[in-house]
Amino acid sequence: MSTNRIYLDWNATAALLPEAREAVLDGLDLCGNASSVHREGRAVRARVETARRQVAALAGADPAHVTFLAGATEAANLVLTPDFRMGRRAVTLGGLYVSAIEHPAVFEGGRFPADRRHEIPVLPTGVVDLDALDAMFAAHDKSLGLPMAALMLVNNETGIIQPVEKAAEIVHRHGGLLVVDAVQAAGRMPVSIAALDADFLILSSHKLGGPKGVGALISRGETLMPAPLVRGGGQEKGHHSGTENVPGILGFAAAAAFAADDIEARNTRIAALRDRLEDGMRAAAADVEIYGADLPRVANTSFFTLPGLKAETGQIAFDLEGIALSAGSACSSGKVGESQVLKAMGRDPRLGGLRVSLGWATTDQDIDAAIAAFAKIAARRRAAGQAA
Ligand code: PLP
Repeated sequence: MSTNRIYLDWNATAALLPEAREAVLDGLDLCGNASSVHREGRAVRARVETARRQVAALAGADPAHVTFLAGATEAANLVLTPDFRMGRRAVTLGGLYVSAIEHPAVFEGGRFPADRRHEIPVLPTGVVDLDALDAMFAAHDKSLGLPMAALMLVNNETGIIQPVEKAAEIVHRHGGLLVVDAVQAAGRMPVSIAALDADFLILSSHKLGGPKGVGALISRGETLMPAPLVRGGGQEKGHHSGTENVPGILGFAAAAAFAADDIEARNTRIAALRDRLEDGMRAAAADVEIYGADLPRVANTSFFTLPGLKAETGQIAFDLEGIALSAGSACSSGKVGESQVLKAMGRDPRLGGLRVSLGWATTDQDIDAAIAAFAKIAARRRAAGQAA
């Protein structure tokens, strides 16, 4: 990153942690194949299994239930399928229910056919509508197979924490399965697959400060597992064939260890920065609307609109001031579009929201610069409004 740039887009991707970089480099130098029985192979296997324990610890999971994959999108495509296995027996699920604010990785529904995918509405606050979930699961035709719900623990645009434990109670009362996308939650709040009562959890390395292109699907048990997406040599207990991405896995584990350590102190510091930013924005423009400010949110995210300022225009204006932030989510490069989340909340999606997201390297000076840039942009908007 250039030193005169300020990076406030950590929900798109976090800056690589020095510890993760070291671990990746270390992994590149390891010669053996983890499946080989000789000493070199066994040494690599030992490193991969240590990494598995570190990733499991971040999610309060059993290491035996961690499957390493090429990122959260691949994890979603693996688990969101009607085609499950209970030992050798095939089990077919009858439908997938995803909330309207899911990341496209989940929203697209994985391997479920379009006519088996259903959208759970979201309340105007940006929180998933649990009564609707209950009604949809009650109406689900079980003769098709049991239902599955996939929900995010933290929304990537607003940072709002979703009521996943309550959703789990509903889903399980109706005999369904719950997949939790914990990509934006891990490292930003304590995450435990058991406390959430989720059946599956999805994690991504690069949101934690690890390398891109590596993630994990974590299961609660091993009895009921999705049919593999990638078949071949049977690595990862057959759930993900192909020689393990050792540098990626070691980097992921280093980031997971960092994320799990001292989470409270880190979040206290980041929350203070975020609160100062929001106070500064309110002082510069009283009409700024900050979404989820009164709801449980993770400490690092602020999602806002400034009436009269389009998200694309705002993003470019901040960029010109040296600040990288995002207009909604960054699901594909250069795509600045309507906010799916604002739309789901019943707002005009064309207005778009601007998202500032902070991370381990964010400083007081970064926040000062962001407040100054915001004040400048808000003043220009006021002047333009008066001239019109
Ligand atoms: N889920 C959420 C909530 C995300 O924010 C992202 C990344 O933007 C993903 C899933 C996809 O993760 P990955 O980039 O590892 O495929």
